[in-house]
Amino acid sequence: MANHRLEEALQSLKSTRVRMTPQRHAILEFLFDAESHPTADDIYKALEGKFPNMSVATVYNNLRVFKEAGLVRELTYGDSSSRFDSNTSDHYHVICEDCGKIVDFHYPGLNEVETLAAHVTDFNVKNHRMEIYGTCPDCQKHKH
Ligand SMILES: [Zn+2]
Ligand SMILES: [Zn+2]
Repeated sequence: MANHRLEEALQSLKSTRVRMTPQRHAILEFLFDAESHPTADDIYKALEGKFPNMSVATVYNNLRVFKEAGLVRELTYGDSSSRFDSNTSDHYHVICEDCGKIVDFHYPGLNEVETLAAHVTDFNVKNHRMEIYGTCPDCQKHKH
């Protein structure tokens, strides 16, 4: 399934003016295989052995290119590093407070919350983000 989405991403990049390089391919592949919402730093650490000349800035610039092409989503968390999500369909996240792992789950979009927020505040509401926090199964095991 991850490979299928990677193929689609590569196809859609072909239709843009984004040039495919071995680094770009490796970064995309990592993102689509991992499904772990990595930071630019995580990706850098995973690929630096393969591309010794690559810097974190290069990774970050490539992620920006992918984001502009609509292939990845950037999840920002205040001052801490952004995480990158290769799943661009609507979904929600549950986040482990111990290890920071982010796992996707699906739930019907809470559109009525957006409608209510717009109605109550007169904001022009564009989207929303909901995150559930807790302890992942791995971290629960380590505690016992
Ligand atoms: Zn955890
Ligand atoms: Zn996600």
